[in-house]
This record gives sequence, C-alpha cells and structure tokens, in this order.
Amino acid sequence: MTEKRPFLYTLKFGIVIAITAAIVLCVGFAFTKHFESKKTDTSLPVFNKDDKIRFVIDPGHGGEDAGAVAYDGTLEKDLNLEIGTLLHSVLELNGKEAVLTRTTDTLLYDRFDDLNDYTGQKKVYDLKNRLKIAEEKENSIYVGIHMNKFPVEKYSGLQVYYSQNTELSQDIADDIKNTVSTYLQPNNQRQVKRATASIYILHNAHIPAVLIECGFLSNEKELASLKDKDYQKLLALNLFASLIEHGN
Ligand SMILES: [Zn+2]
Repeated sequence: MTEKRPFLYTLKFGIVIAITAAIVLCVGFAFTKHFESKKTDTSLPVFNKDDKIRFVIDPGHGGEDAGAVAYDGTLEKDLNLEIGTLLHSVLELNGKEAVLTRTTDTLLYDRFDDLNDYTGQKKVYDLKNRLKIAEEKENSIYVGIHMNKFPVEKYSGLQVYYSQNTELSQDIADDIKNTVSTYLQPNNQRQVKRATASIYILHNAHIPAVLIECGFLSNEKELASLKDKDYQKLLALNLFASLIEHGN
C-alpha cells in the first residue's frame, strides 16, 4: 500500500500540470486569434496616393436643411450644388474619376435605411452617410462644398478647412488656398484651418478630406459673385487645378 502513494501523487500532479497546460494553450490561442482579427480588420479605408484616386464632391446641406440663407433669400444648399456639380463635371471632362454625394435637393440621412424613424436624428445620419459614401469609394479624397455667413457684412473670401487625420489633407487645403489667392482672390489673406470636432466629416474621416467655404453669403459683393455663372465656373476651375495636383 505504501508504495502506491508516490504513484498517486505523481498521477495527481500530472493531471494538474496537464490541466494548467491546456488552460495556457487555450488562453494563448484566444489571444492569437484576437490579434489576428485586429490585424486583418479591413473595415478602415486605406489611402494610397500612388494608386488611382477618386474625388468625392459633397455639396453640403439639401432638402429641409438650407444651410446659410442670404439676405436676398439665396440658399447655401443651392449654391453648394451648383458649384459642386461644376467641379464634378470639370474633373470628369478631364478624365478624373469623381462622384457627387447628391445631385438633387435632398438630405442623405436615409440613404442606407439605417432606421425606421429618423425624427431628431436626420442631421446626424446625413453627415454620417456623406462620410460613409466617401469612405466606401475606393482610394478617395473628400471635398465638401459650403458657403460661409457672418453677422458682420465686411468679411469675405474663400476659406479651407482640413482634416487632422491625414497629412495629405493639409497639403490639399494649402494648394486650394494658394491657387485661389493667385488666380481668383488676390486679396485673400485667409489661412487654412484644421477642422475641430464641430466639423463632423473632417474630424472623423480616415481619408484625405477638406471642406471649402467658397465665400460669404453675408457679403453683398461676394454673394453676387457666387451667384454669377461665370464666377462659379472660374471657381470650379481653380478648385479643379488644385485637386488634380493630387489625383492620378
Ligand atoms: Zn454649410
């Protein structure tokens, strides 16, 4: 009987070792799988400036959201669409791949049928969907088109905001600013600005992204220019010339 005891101890010890080893193996496997799944997560868009680049032109606002309203009743959403459409056409005519987020007077909150009822959430989903459209487009650069407004009439001039999330965003913004102040608005002293969280799309973009405030609807002279078809074409050409620096 006494000889069997060491055998039992050895057996028990062996079982404990085997269970411990099994647990260590299982935990190790789970960790490996966890990091593997992180490594192979392809949900984030990847941007490569050497590959073919697509431009996503996003005329801000639409539908029940007019954006800024000028003293004469001109709506920001309409000018955004007119200038955005011109920019899109110039890009396409020159063989560049470009898409418009909207071609009609509408918001985009229900584009992906996320909810049954969007009450109180239209603006949130509208912005979310514009970013989604841009990021789903392979290797794309986002260009938001907007108009400015200020309570004081004297301010004028185009202003570019850029996303802090990619270096290229600031380069594009600088190019737009430099082109416009060389060819269109020689007195424009406005520096490009890094977007804060208040500009949802730029703040959350994983792709190069800029937002252009084309001018001030609160400035009578600039408003007249922004409504003028020839000025709109000139502006679109300036934006095009800046963007193609970055498009293959
Ligand atoms: Zn706007």
